[in-house]
Amino acid sequence: MIESQETLPCAPAPLARTQSNGKATEDRGGPCPRSGQRLLAVPVLPDGSPDWEHRLIGVLQNLNAKGAVVELDSPADLPVTELVLVLPDPGDGMARCAGMEVRAALRLGPERLEVWGPFGGLADALLRPENLAPRFRPEPLAFAPAFPESVLQKWAEVGILRPVLADRVLLCPRCHGLPSFRPGCPNCGGVHVASDQFIHHFTCAHVGLVESFLGQEEVICPKCRTRRLVVGSDYEYLTGPPRCLECHWTGAELEHVAQCLRCGLRFPGSQALLQDLTGYHVERLAPLAG
Ligand SMILES: [Zn+2]
Ligand SMILES: [Zn+2]
Ligand SMILES: [Zn+2]
Repeated sequence: MIESQETLPCAPAPLARTQSNGKATEDRGGPCPRSGQRLLAVPVLPDGSPDWEHRLIGVLQNLNAKGAVVELDSPADLPVTELVLVLPDPGDGMARCAGMEVRAALRLGPERLEVWGPFGGLADALLRPENLAPRFRPEPLAFAPAFPESVLQKWAEVGILRPVLADRVLLCPRCHGLPSFRPGCPNCGGVHVASDQFIHHFTCAHVGLVESFLGQEEVICPKCRTRRLVVGSDYEYLTGPPRCLECHWTGAELEHVAQCLRCGLRFPGSQALLQDLTGYHVERLAPLAG
């Protein structure tokens, strides 16, 4: 049993009532962190990187869906105003994180600093799932997360973010930009390709271009001269292999021809660069999850 006087509600009634969608801020990420729980506070540098050397140990004093009060073991004042709080979940032991903007600090003793503030700012943005997934960015015409890869890698190195395979994409082999694809000629890459239509006369087995079978208002076989052929019972249509109208290539199949939207390179789709897109995952603190 959990001692009720020590347990803070995840979403106190006034907060739950403020939800515009009528839903209470339930904790979907496991049991709610409790006051008195030990935590790790990692300062966030202005570029979003973790200031791992200056990480602090502390104790959670108070927490709800909007913010937290934390007591830190710190002889010095905080050099930054953004913290990523890391709390081991009392249920499964898994670390859960929240990003806090420090709005106020109070020195309690030579080693004790109390800080409080809302969840939000750069530290919170760093942990949001939508910022950790690689997305197509119109500016570089390429896939990238919302934060520089080098910044997210630093959080992964200290174990707070976990790299995950988000997707695989085909890219331009020259500039790694995004290509478009179309079916085209494997020889010259052109799209002016056509296929001839043939007629196959069943009885004599002759196959010829449709035009060679066309008589006056009737279909006549040019080989055996049989007249008034009926589609289905006497003959069938056949589609010939694709033929390039530009370079006169003909073959069994067209190929996906790629053109880079950034540098304009046109290349066979089979030469596209297959690249893994890495995203990152973090377990967010219960009141913020979902
Ligand atoms: Zn061609
Ligand atoms: Zn015939
Ligand atoms: Zn390119």
